[in-house]
Amino acid sequence: MIDEKYLDEIFVSFSRTLESLGSPLPSVSLIAEENNDPYRVLVSTLISLRTKDSVTMEASKRLFAIAPDIQTLASLDSEIIAETIKPAGFYRRKGTDLKRIANIIIEEYGGIVPDELQTLLSLPGVGIKTASLVLNLGYGKAAICVDCHVHEIANRLGWVDTKSAEETERRLREILPMRFWIPLNELLVRYGQKVCTPVSPFCSKCPENGRCPQKGVQRQR
Ligand code: SF4
Repeated sequence: MIDEKYLDEIFVSFSRTLESLGSPLPSVSLIAEENNDPYRVLVSTLISLRTKDSVTMEASKRLFAIAPDIQTLASLDSEIIAETIKPAGFYRRKGTDLKRIANIIIEEYGGIVPDELQTLLSLPGVGIKTASLVLNLGYGKAAICVDCHVHEIANRLGWVDTKSAEETERRLREILPMRFWIPLNELLVRYGQKVCTPVSPFCSKCPENGRCPQKGVQRQR
C-alpha cells in the first residue's frame, strides 16, 4: 500500500501547481459537474476517446441537444449520431457503438445505465476507462479510471511497473487506498495535459522533481 501521507502531499502539490497554471477541468468532468447523469457521462466519455477535450465538449453538447436521454439516442440513425459528433476521433464507429449501446440498455436494462463494472464492460466500445468514469462520476462509486495519463504518471512516479492501462488499474486497486480512487483520474489527466506531458514532461515545473524517480522519462524540460 502506498503511504497515505505521501499521497496527500502529492495530491495537494499537483493541485496547487495546476491551479497556478490555470488548468481547466477535463471535458467529461465538466459535463458531469453540470449534470451528474450516468447517461451523459457514458456518452461523453465514449466521444472523448482519442479526441481533444475541446472537440469532446462541443460534440457532446450537440448530441445532447438532439438526444437528451437514452430513448431518444436509440431512436436516431447511427449516421446522424456520427455526423453530430464529427470531428471526434472514429466518429463513424462511435455513432454505431452509441446506437447499439442505447438499444442494449433499453432492451436489457430497462433504460437505466448499468452501475456494475462487468456489465458496463460488456457494452460495445466500452473499456475500463469509460466504465470506471461512469461508476465514478455518474454513480459516485469508487473505481479507478486509468487512461494513458494515469498509466504513464503512475509508472513515472514508480507507483507501478506495468505495460498496459489494464495492468495499472489492477495494480493500483491493490496499492492505492480507496479514498484516492475517485479523485485520481481527474488530477492525473489534468497533470498529464499540463505538466507531466507524454513525450517530454515539464519536470522543472513539478514539485515532485527531486523525489520522483522519473521512470521511463528520456527527455524532460
Ligand atoms: S518529476 Fe517529471 S516525471 Fe515526475 S511527476 Fe513530475 S513531471 Fe512527471
